[in-house]
Amino acid sequence: MLALLSHFRFLILFFMVIIFLYVYLKIAPKKMSFDNGGNQIKLNKCPECGKEINSKSKYCPYCGYTFDGKDKI
Ligand SMILES: [Zn+2]
Repeated sequence: MLALLSHFRFLILFFMVIIFLYVYLKIAPKKMSFDNGGNQIKLNKCPECGKEINSKSKYCPYCGYTFDGKDKI
């Protein structure tokens, strides 16, 4: 009975690690985006195709949507 209990505890720990890794992998890439220089960059969502692009760029590299005149910088 004691062996079964420790096995059960191991299973709970195993599932907790899986859930933690799942949540971490889902959140981490969105919060940390870096450009080539290693600096953290802001991401804008393209209204045309919905992909995340650098807020400094004036056009979407995926679909070619231009942000000219829309952003107040
Ligand atoms: Zn786009």
